[in-house]
Amino acid sequence: MQPSNRSTYSPWRQDYRRETVAAQADGWRCAVTGAVPPPITIGATYARTGDYALPAGMAYLRDQGSPLVEQAESVLHRLEGGTDALLFSSGMAAATAVFATLPAGSRVVVPETMYFGLTRWLREFGPQLGLVVAAAPTGDLDAVRAAVRAAPTALVWVESPCNPTWVVTDVAACAEIAHEAGALLGVDNTVPTPVHTQPFELGADLIMHSATKYLNGHTDVVGGFLATSTENEHWARLRLHRQLGGAVPGQLETYLLVRGMKTLFPRMRQISASAQRIAEHFVEHPVIRRVAYPGLPGDPGHAVAARQMRDGFSGMLSLHVDGPGDLALRVARNCELFLAATSLGGVESLIEHRHTFEGPGSTAPPDMLRLSIGLEDPDDLIADLEQALKRAAVDEAPRLEDHR
Ligand SMILES: *Cc1c(COP(=O)(O)O)cnc(C)c1O
Repeated sequence: MQPSNRSTYSPWRQDYRRETVAAQADGWRCAVTGAVPPPITIGATYARTGDYALPAGMAYLRDQGSPLVEQAESVLHRLEGGTDALLFSSGMAAATAVFATLPAGSRVVVPETMYFGLTRWLREFGPQLGLVVAAAPTGDLDAVRAAVRAAPTALVWVESPCNPTWVVTDVAACAEIAHEAGALLGVDNTVPTPVHTQPFELGADLIMHSATKYLNGHTDVVGGFLATSTENEHWARLRLHRQLGGAVPGQLETYLLVRGMKTLFPRMRQISASAQRIAEHFVEHPVIRRVAYPGLPGDPGHAVAARQMRDGFSGMLSLHVDGPGDLALRVARNCELFLAATSLGGVESLIEHRHTFEGPGSTAPPDMLRLSIGLEDPDDLIADLEQALKRAAVDEAPRLEDHR
């Protein structure tokens, strides 16, 4: 979107680099007081003036958003490029809006393994929306090509690296395959963030973010974004879907998100450097069977990741523990510094046994631990995992039943 010229904010120069845009949240200032951080205006409705005009062109929070919503959108838009961005009340609200606004009967090709919530939503609600959902291992371009060519396809959806296996998908090649078939390419860019991957440069048509994760970065907001490479009819319907479907975030969440995005670049650089170091430490560890991290030269996705990611490989990795059934779960239970919590992308490092979290139907292998690396000293994180691995080996009681 164009930076707002609404009276309380002043537009900013367009030629600053992305790190500068992030640091000063696109330079929006309160024109009334000069306050550097944006004012939190918690109004859901806006009063008209004596001549029945709307002073900021906004009538109702759900319909037009707010200056804060516009600021968050302008920051994300400038970080991703393209022509516009829309803020949603969650990543899932953003992702599902894309699928819900396709013409009835549309066929979509999605990754075999992707964010679990979206897989589940497509299974629960896809049929009733008339969506035909084809799953393909998107790390394998021949499989993607075959799936797209099998029948007329409206949308190809990819995620790279893909949660929680960190399989890498060649975004540029998928864009080509999708476009050849007249389909759109949508990219869930939550994990790499615009710091490491810029999907519009690789040919994507739509970008989706769970802003809950790295963009906000402090585990205190649920939010989501969509961004588009061009303004078209589908984008207009997405805007209308948010307006009428009501998936707008609250003002406090939006404020926190704008604040969180200011430190996105330095956070991602440190997080990615730490994740690389931790992955390298465990790659030849006697109790770790495999480390899934695209930054490792031996990772099957490394060559593609090195081409489409810059400045690091993000902060997500999975360790496959070598041992009996619930050894991995016992490792998670014995961590002291890593918090055994779901989600990712915050300043605190998290460890999760996805198999337990996803429950029945989970495709996550029981030996896998998913790590979200935060901003702690990487040596402290390595030491915590080492002590947890040692204690887990002698911790006989599985204690599965009281693990929530
Ligand atoms: C968390 C997440 C989502 C869903 O976002 P919410 O903000 O939790 O609704 C989608 N994709 C990925 C990769 C995620 O990690």
